[in-house]
Amino acid sequence: MKFNIVLVPGDGIGPEIVWGAVEVLTAVGRKFGHTFDFETVLAGGCAIDRFGVPLPDETLQKCLSSDSVLLGAVGGPKWDTLPGHLRPERALLGIRKELGLFANLRPARLQKVLASASPLRADIADKGVDLLIVRELTGGMYFGPRGRGQGEMGETAFDTEVYSRGEIERIGRVGFETAMKRNKKLCSVDKANVLESSRLWRETMHELAKEYPEVAYSDMLVDNAAMQLIQNPSQFDVIVTSNLFGDILSDEASQLTGSIGLLASASLGEGTRGMYEPIHGSAPDIAGQGIANPIATILSAAMMLNLSFGLTEEAAAVDAAVAAVLASGARTRDIAAGGAYISGAEMTRRIIQAL
Ligand code: NAD
Repeated sequence: MKFNIVLVPGDGIGPEIVWGAVEVLTAVGRKFGHTFDFETVLAGGCAIDRFGVPLPDETLQKCLSSDSVLLGAVGGPKWDTLPGHLRPERALLGIRKELGLFANLRPARLQKVLASASPLRADIADKGVDLLIVRELTGGMYFGPRGRGQGEMGETAFDTEVYSRGEIERIGRVGFETAMKRNKKLCSVDKANVLESSRLWRETMHELAKEYPEVAYSDMLVDNAAMQLIQNPSQFDVIVTSNLFGDILSDEASQLTGSIGLLASASLGEGTRGMYEPIHGSAPDIAGQGIANPIATILSAAMMLNLSFGLTEEAAAVDAAVAAVLASGARTRDIAAGGAYISGAEMTRRIIQAL
């Protein structure tokens, strides 16, 4: 089969880790007889430097006509003082919105061989962490009405959490369908004791649950979920939640696995095209040193093979190659716990060898 992949390396460590994933995809193509055509475009800080905007129209058009997009990371201190509409992160929001990517899937699995890199107590880590957070991506607080005004105590500012029943149903269905393909457990996280938007969220989820009798469904308040992720993470299979809560909880969950450099994500809409990216940022503190962990981006590419291209065997082969290399003791600096480590390029080479 033949696929057209648009690469958005972005800033900081973005280019190093995206090239690692490209090498792995190329090796997958050789092994399984597929052709992956890559086209590289600019977005984020590098696009601001070159074109004065974070998401040039040409970049967006290429993403819209691709089979899928692989993104590194955008942003860095150089662009931190720009006004909101000109910040590198605008590129991500723009691509998500224009491609209609409303569902963000973030798996977090603690590999047994990396248990010592996890901040969890050994008895909790022993029970395992293997969960997936489904985060709503194009609604809620990040897109609702916002503004500034004046109040009795001076200047005021507000952001608004708005969700429609349709938006909740759409993301809820992704949650249930994802649970059906895993261990058939779904926990919906909200703040229904306080927020009206959460009450609509909960009502809608309960309606939807009737269509999925095989799925063990539960609700949890977000403050409790934040505690339970640390106290008893093995209870979770799939969590579905809003844009804001999902943003925070998925970063918390990522830490349970040892390093943010290991975690992949997929953003999906109605069709098969998706955007795949590591959950970490552009790590300006280590950019250009060759020590960035490429695994999160390589696993994101594996999610692309599985979810957008239907290449399940190929995706499983990449997952297995990563697991084998970690089991062999190879470590990049972020997961070496102060011990010996190899470069990101060497990690990529070993994963390809294992493949
Ligand atoms: P970050 O994720 O870039 O880095 C946090 C810490 O994790 C740093 O110590 C970094 O060195 C380390 N780290 C991250 N990825 C790693 C990897 N692959 N291997 C080894 N170590 C890794 O978060 P930050 O420092 O808060 O943000 C830096 C910049 O990235 C900011 O400009 C921020 O806005 C941007 N950002 C972009 C995205 C994105 O593009 N999706 C996401 C988050 C942050």
